[in-house]
Amino acid sequence: MCWQPEYEMLPREQLEALQLERLQTTLAQAGKSPYYGAKFAEHGIAPQDLTDISQIRQLPFTTKEDLRANYPYGFVTVPRDELVRLHCSSGTTGNPTVIFHNRHDLASWAKLVARSLYAAGARPHHVFQNICGYGLFTGGLGFQYGAECLGMLTIPSAAGNSRRQIKLMQDFGTNVVHAIPSYLTRLYDVFEELGVAPTDTQLKLLVIGAEPHSEETRKRIEALFGVKAFNSYGLSEMNGPGVAFECEHQNGLHIWEDCYVVEIVDPVTLEPVAPGEIGELVLTTLDRQAMPIIRYRTRDLTRFLPGECVCGRTCRRIDRITGRSDDMFIIRGCNVFPIQVEKVLMEIPQVGNDYVIVLETKDDNDQMTIEVEVSREWFTDDYSQLESLRKLISHRVRDEVLVTPSVRLVEPGALPKSEGKAIRVRDLRQKG
Ligand code: AMP
Ligand code: ZN
Repeated sequence: MCWQPEYEMLPREQLEALQLERLQTTLAQAGKSPYYGAKFAEHGIAPQDLTDISQIRQLPFTTKEDLRANYPYGFVTVPRDELVRLHCSSGTTGNPTVIFHNRHDLASWAKLVARSLYAAGARPHHVFQNICGYGLFTGGLGFQYGAECLGMLTIPSAAGNSRRQIKLMQDFGTNVVHAIPSYLTRLYDVFEELGVAPTDTQLKLLVIGAEPHSEETRKRIEALFGVKAFNSYGLSEMNGPGVAFECEHQNGLHIWEDCYVVEIVDPVTLEPVAPGEIGELVLTTLDRQAMPIIRYRTRDLTRFLPGECVCGRTCRRIDRITGRSDDMFIIRGCNVFPIQVEKVLMEIPQVGNDYVIVLETKDDNDQMTIEVEVSREWFTDDYSQLESLRKLISHRVRDEVLVTPSVRLVEPGALPKSEGKAIRVRDLRQKG
């Protein structure tokens, strides 16, 4: 039930035929919503006119602004009585982005998460602990139902209280943990405080996602916990987790093309990028009834990876998300993605696991300061050593992003921690 070769391993031609059929159904359904009903009428779109999946490019994009402007029910296609759950996307002010599901949608989503977990190596006899916020955030209930659908004993331990998390892991023999990467490094610190080695637990694999992280961060997490960490990508607008996931081979994320049409476009021209080029991921739901979304501009930047995966799944793979087009900041004329800074920092062994980039205006000039936790093992009060580490960080970051940052070293654990996704950039610049 969780391993679905009839979808995951379809030859391209058959997959595209399935996509076309599902897209036509999706468009017919979407047309019942006030938003798409009007949009399709305006553009003269009739689902049966599509004869090839590539013609999806003729359809209009949908943006987060469209979702917010039609808050709350403008995209809903079914009577209110049929709706059984809503989720919201994180981190925005004003009207949130709300996604509604009916029973079919929730069952389909749970299957996708189950399939994803299975691909990473989770099995029904495993114990799964879901260490993330439950509530409007999709990582909580999304993984809960997905893990249950796979048949795992699932511990909804939610966020926070690291000591209790470790106790639950020990007492129930947790094999699989899902958590946000920035939290896992904190959890490891508590393991250390308690004098417990993660390798002395039954842990077999980690699932990490929901926020951007570099390959270097993944390697650190794997080294700390002594198990593989699999990248999980998703967004509320497309359900949440279970959109794209790494299989056991960890070479990019299989994106479930039987349930999503995947495009990668140039964020400026909105035309498809050349094969293998980085661009903005655009997704269309193919198995959602209550609130289908057509050509959603995710703002997430990635590329298709070439070739086929050794696991035999034919669903294409995308590279880890290198950032969001709206994450990028411009400082002294240089475009910088936070993940570039993270990659440099995590390559330096003396650097701890947390950092924040602060942008300020000083004497009319934009200034970038990186506050960096020093690693616990290396921490010293030898001024000259700290000074050379500071310089090293500053030079390496400059080589990567072409702007010389100030570096402020702080003690391990000194930076403020957020409950959910980590905040990596504080932009305090005077605007205008
Ligand atoms: P939300 O819908 O609030 O949960 O946020 C979804 C967003 O989180 C995505 O659009 C991405 O920007 C980010 N995200 C989720 N998973 C990952 C991941 N594995 N790597 C990088 N960014 C991610
Ligand atoms: Zn694979």
